[in-house]
Amino acid sequence: MTASHASAPVDPTSPSADVTAEQVRAALAEVRYPGLPRDIVSLGIVDQVSACGGVVQVRLALRTADASVPEQLQVAVSERVLALGAAEVTVAIGEPRHAPPPRARSTPDPWADQVRLAAVRHVIAVGAGKGGVGKSTVAVGLALALAREGLRVGLLDADIYGPSLPILLGIADGAAQARMSPEKFILPVEAHGLPFVSFGFFLGEGSPAIWRGPMVSKAVKQFARGVAWPTLDVLVVDLPPGTGDIPLSLAQSVQLSGAVVVTQPARVAAAEAEKAVAMFRTLEVPVLGVVENMTGAFGEGAGAAVAASLAVPFLGAIPFDPAIVTEGDAGTPGIVQRPDAPSSRALDAIAAATARSLGYAPATVAAEG
Ligand code: ADP
Repeated sequence: MTASHASAPVDPTSPSADVTAEQVRAALAEVRYPGLPRDIVSLGIVDQVSACGGVVQVRLALRTADASVPEQLQVAVSERVLALGAAEVTVAIGEPRHAPPPRARSTPDPWADQVRLAAVRHVIAVGAGKGGVGKSTVAVGLALALAREGLRVGLLDADIYGPSLPILLGIADGAAQARMSPEKFILPVEAHGLPFVSFGFFLGEGSPAIWRGPMVSKAVKQFARGVAWPTLDVLVVDLPPGTGDIPLSLAQSVQLSGAVVVTQPARVAAAEAEKAVAMFRTLEVPVLGVVENMTGAFGEGAGAAVAASLAVPFLGAIPFDPAIVTEGDAGTPGIVQRPDAPSSRALDAIAAATARSLGYAPATVAAEG
């Protein structure tokens, strides 16, 4: 537990205001978590607030591998509370308690309407700190490789801003193929043997780039829960790159078993990947591991380095393979076309490690498949 202490400059002509805990909480709802578009109250980080006679104590419950975050939050919280007129503020930061703290009735619990998809045992998200690292390619390859392990796998393209899975999977007319069940659930289409749904099927002509926070959040929620999936062991979700609203909305709408973070091999990519790992940790989504993609062409080692420095598993490295680009454009994934290529074997090993981390031992997979 770390604690910081700050006092307002003494000014005898202006006695400190008798700030209330409610005022402090309201003010903290304006303090953003570093690097995320969300405030610390709605993220559930503000654990306790007490205020008495101008002396304010705040406890934040936080687990992060980024050592600069606690300090940034201590400064931001102290400044905000002193600006309310408090004379003294102490900001303590500790580990999240096992049971979530009781929330004030006036504070909406962002996780309150999180649901478990009935037919799906594990939902895993594939994310990346930035675009272009091959996240969508890895999501497709991972899903197909998990299916080769004998698991029942589905694939959801939740990249509302740039849904590319229909192209990678060769589904040119997804919008035309998509059907609704009589109960108004979206029925998945079939792509290389996997049930598949993309946000892209439903975007129409409108530019999703103009969608803003609440619209995105509502759409993701409806979309993530509105699909009639068959019974699945694993649903692989391709997230948009970065640490924006969609991962947050998704984590709040469905229970995620874990996240896989994709990075490029150059060291400069590591910082972005670390942000993605930090985001999943903040959302209390277990990070199943880091995958390095395009190893060789852009160097080597960022994936293993990020994994080691953040103490998460390194799931493996996929070599740079120029045929993947052509196969992506043609909608014929390499793992289907060339199962023995080094890039396909790497995906198989990553899928096996992912399956194990979800509790599927090779024997279980064989027995269930
Ligand atoms: P993201 O989802 O991160 O934006 P994509 O999966 O769309 O990235 O991949 C970006 C580009 O890189 C695509 O043209 C894709 O075919 C290519 N690509 C992905 N992985 C590899 C790889 N291992 N070797 C070569 N090219 C790759």
